[in-house]
Amino acid sequence: MNAYIQRVIDDVKKKNASQPEFCQTVEEVLGSLSPLIDAHPEYEENAILERMVEPERAFCFRVPWEDDNGVLHVNRGYRIQFNSAIGPYKGGLRFAPNVNTSVIKFLGFEQVFKDALTTLPIGGAKGGADFDPNGKSDKEIQRFCQSFMEGMFRFIGPDVDCPAGDLGVGGREIGYMFGAWRRLTGSYANGALSGKDPLFGGSAFRPEATGYGAVYYLEAVLGHENDDIKGKRVAVAGFGNVAWGVCKKLAELGAKAVTLSGPDGYIYDPEGVATEEKINYMLEMRASGRNKVQDYADKFHCQFFAGQKPWGQKDVDIVMPCATQNDVDMDEAKKIVANGVKYYIEVANMPTTNEALKFLMDQKNMIVAPSKAVNCGGVSVSALEMSQNSERLFWDGEEVDKWLHKIMKGVHDNSAAAAERYGLGYNLVAGANIVGFEKVADAMIKQGRAY
Ligand code: GLU
Repeated sequence: MNAYIQRVIDDVKKKNASQPEFCQTVEEVLGSLSPLIDAHPEYEENAILERMVEPERAFCFRVPWEDDNGVLHVNRGYRIQFNSAIGPYKGGLRFAPNVNTSVIKFLGFEQVFKDALTTLPIGGAKGGADFDPNGKSDKEIQRFCQSFMEGMFRFIGPDVDCPAGDLGVGGREIGYMFGAWRRLTGSYANGALSGKDPLFGGSAFRPEATGYGAVYYLEAVLGHENDDIKGKRVAVAGFGNVAWGVCKKLAELGAKAVTLSGPDGYIYDPEGVATEEKINYMLEMRASGRNKVQDYADKFHCQFFAGQKPWGQKDVDIVMPCATQNDVDMDEAKKIVANGVKYYIEVANMPTTNEALKFLMDQKNMIVAPSKAVNCGGVSVSALEMSQNSERLFWDGEEVDKWLHKIMKGVHDNSAAAAERYGLGYNLVAGANIVGFEKVADAMIKQGRAY
């Protein structure tokens, strides 16, 4: 490992000892940049790594809200604005009980590279709250979103930061936050948030974008291997918005998702989550707020494995973790390898522990694709939403899909080419990190040493 990189990683670990997820992602990203840093002494001369691992600004705010019984609760809200060298901060808001500084910082750091990879002019940020939306009434969600926006509205804006959704934040929550934004600021402000309903400025295709984009990326990988998506059986984890888009696009292209997972376990449907009824049922399950994937097995009479993850499932060609961080550890990775899976396509942000990721990448017959590239279709369509809002235009679904396709193919091809350029072979993980890093680092150098 390059000595400068090692020094910065050691420093980050020392300074952020209580932030394991953030340290993990810094180690993974910087750890893959050695050939690039070796070849470019200007990065060290300009302290680029030290600057990149420190957010430009970080906000933390109180979010009080009243439940339906009039009881007052307090949650902690965050917006961490990591890097705006190439455009206004952009990234999602996550509402989940395990949200904390470490989780938001790891997501924000990843977002910088992901957003750069898209080739669109967006910087990186992330936010959210340690609020659990499961089991809350619609009115409670609404009050929470309004209070959250009261805490955040001073720090965002169309030329500053454009937040969107992430886990626990979908179209409904974005709508409530946007209503609060308009009331607080008296302005539409080019849409302010992305992921809005198309009735008030949202882009066509945003709900599908992350899942569809992931499958377009997968197609590019299969194309590189002279392989075909038709007939492929895919182990999918999660059953939220992203997994839904993945299942839908896989079915459309003649492949099928055969597993889904939730906090309660996983289901195995050998026929595939591939009919309109089954795919629509995923939306119903999510909207119910029960957060149980067993409901699918009960409805469609297939097997349910309580308390297990789908990684031991046999007869699958491709694995796509679409749930949450660190879903695949060393033991799970060994099961995937034992089943002879050839394609490991990360979709959720950092779904693999560093140790497991290295183990999977070391397998001769396995291709590993990193989440920051595979899932960047979501934020890409968000950026297209910003463009449409600023132009006061609405592009139809066909137009947006065409862009999405082109962006995802470009992300794959650019990553593959960058890895090749630095003598790393077909290494999509390092390639994505290199492409994202180069763009942001070079922009920072050209903007001087002051920020
Ligand atoms: N949360 C999504 C992501 O990770 C979407 C962000 C956005 O659309 O701004 O990239």
